Amino acid sequence: MADYDLAIIGGGLNGVSVARDAAGRGLRVILLEQGDLGGGASSASPRLIHGDLAVLERRAFLRVRAALAERDIWLRIAPHLVRPMRFVIPVHSDERPPWLLRSGLLLYDRLASRTRLPPSATVDVTHHPIGNALKRPFGTAFEYSDCVADDSRLVTLNAVDAAERGAVIRTGARCVRADRLEIWRLVAIDRGHRLVITARALANASGAWTASVAETVLRTPQPEGGTTQISQIIVRRLFDTDNVYVIQNIDRRLIFASPYERDFTLIGTVGHAFKGDPAVVSMAAADVAYLCDAANRYFRERVEPSDVIRTVSGANTVLDGASAGRDGSMAFDARRGKAPLLTIFGGDVTTSRLRAERAVSRLTSFYPMSPRWTAKAPLPGGDFAWEKFDEEVDGARERWPFLTEPQAQRLVAGYGSRLQDVLGDAKDRAELGPAFGPELTGAEVRYLMAKEWARFPDDVLWRRSKLGLTMPARDREALAAFMATASP
Ligand SMILES: Cc1cc2nc3c(=O)[nH]c(=O)nc-3n(C[C@H](O)[C@H](O)[C@H](O)COP(=O)(O)OP(=O)(O)OC[C@H]3O[C@@H](n4cnc5c(N)ncnc54)[C@H](O)[C@@H]3O)c2cc1C
Repeated sequence: MADYDLAIIGGGLNGVSVARDAAGRGLRVILLEQGDLGGGASSASPRLIHGDLAVLERRAFLRVRAALAERDIWLRIAPHLVRPMRFVIPVHSDERPPWLLRSGLLLYDRLASRTRLPPSATVDVTHHPIGNALKRPFGTAFEYSDCVADDSRLVTLNAVDAAERGAVIRTGARCVRADRLEIWRLVAIDRGHRLVITARALANASGAWTASVAETVLRTPQPEGGTTQISQIIVRRLFDTDNVYVIQNIDRRLIFASPYERDFTLIGTVGHAFKGDPAVVSMAAADVAYLCDAANRYFRERVEPSDVIRTVSGANTVLDGASAGRDGSMAFDARRGKAPLLTIFGGDVTTSRLRAERAVSRLTSFYPMSPRWTAKAPLPGGDFAWEKFDEEVDGARERWPFLTEPQAQRLVAGYGSRLQDVLGDAKDRAELGPAFGPELTGAEVRYLMAKEWARFPDDVLWRRSKLGLTMPARDREALAAFMATASP
C-alpha cells in the first residue's frame, strides 16, 4: 500500500490547484515544493482573471466563453482575492478601428451572458475622470468588465484549502528522485533531511523545471516545447481611477496598466524565449524600455526606466509560442503495469481551477473519487458575496477600530472572513506585536508562519503580501530577526 494516492512536484498555481481538487475528492495527497509556494511563474502573472481579448481576436470564441465562466466562478469562490474592474481601451487612431473594438466588446458581452458584471460601454474621456491620466488626443474610450486577482495569494489559499482537506504540503522539499514501478517511490531533500515516500500516482507540475524534472528526476521523456519568460514593471501610480488601462501597442500587442497595491501601477507583459536557470529570471533593459515606451504613448505622466521600482519576471514551459498561456498543457501517461504520471504546466490563472479539475479527473479510472466540487466551494476566507466586499471592510473597521480604511481594505483583500484568525481580539495596534514598516504586524507574521507556510521575509513581503514595496530596509532586517526566533 502506497503512502499517498497522489504526489505532486511543484507548488505553483498548477500544483496547488491539483492538490486542492484531489484532496477534496478524497485522495491522500502530498505536494513537494522545493522553495516557497508561488515562488516561480505563479507570482509573476499579469494578475488578470479574464476572457482575454487577445484570444477573442484569434476567434477562439469557445475558449473565451469558458474563461469568462471561470471568471464568474472565481468571483464566487474568491471574492476577497478577485476584484471586478472596468477595463478601459482608449481609442487610438493608429490602432484597431473603433468599430472593430466596439463590435469585439459587444461579442465579449454576449459570451459572458450570464455574468452580473456590467456590460461594455463607450466613454467620452474628455469629460470623464478616466481621461485625466491620458494624453490629449484621446477623446473616446471603450470600457468593459473583467477582473484582477492577487496571483500569489491564490496559490497560498489553494494550498491552505488543500491542507484543510487533508493534503500534506511540504515547502523547502526538493524532489530529487522518483522511481516508477507499480507505485511511485520518491526521494526528496526536505529542509536538509532525506524524505522517502510512495504514491500511487505522480503529477509533475514543476513549471519551467518540467523538462529537467522529467529528465533527471523521473527519467521519462521530456515534454516537447520550450521555456518562455514574461516580465512586467512596477512604477508609481500613474492614474487615480480604479481602472485597468488597455494599451494597444504599435506591434498590436495589448499591454495592461493595472492599479497595484494602492500606490503603484503594474505594466505588462512582455514575453521571450528563456534559457537558463528558472530560479533566476530577470528582465532585460530593452524590455523595460519597451513597456515604458508603451505607457508613454498613452499616459501624461512620463515613465522612464529609472522610475521602475521593481520588475516582475517568471518562466514556464510552453508548447509553442503561438498558443502560450490560456489552457496550458497536460499529458497523462498510464502504461500498463506502471504507476500513472500526470504532467501539467503553463496556462493562465483564469483557467487554472478548470485545468486542475480536468487533470485530476484523468485519474478517475484508477481510484474511486467523489465528483468535481471546486467550482462551488469558496477558498478560505471567501465565504461572502463579492458585491459585499465593502461591507466586509466596514465590518472589519467596526470590529478593529484602530484599522485605517486602506489597512482594512488590504487585510480583507488578503484574508477575507479569516481576518479574525489574524487579528484575534486585539483592542489596539500595540496588541498585535511589533510593527514592521507602515502596515505589517507581528500577529500577521505569526499567522502567516503558522497557517500559510511562510518561513523567510520574502515569503511574507512578496508572496503572502506585497508589503515589500513599502518596507524600509531596517524593518526588513527586524522582520528577518523576528521570523528567525518566532515560533509559529
Ligand atoms: C510565458 C508565460 C506566459 C504566461 N501567460 C499568462 C497569462 O496570459 N495569463 C496569466 O494569468 N498567467 C500567465 N502566466 C503565469 C501563470 O501564472 C503561470 O504560468 C501559472 O501560474 C502556472 O504556473 P505553474 O504552476 O505551472 O509553474 P510555477 O508557478 O513556476 O510553479 C512550479 C513550481 O515547481 C517547483 N519545482 C520545480 N522543480 C521542483 C522539484 N524538483 N521539487 C519540488 N518543487 C519543484 C518550483 O519551485 C515552482 O515553485 C504566464 C507565465 C509565463 C511564464
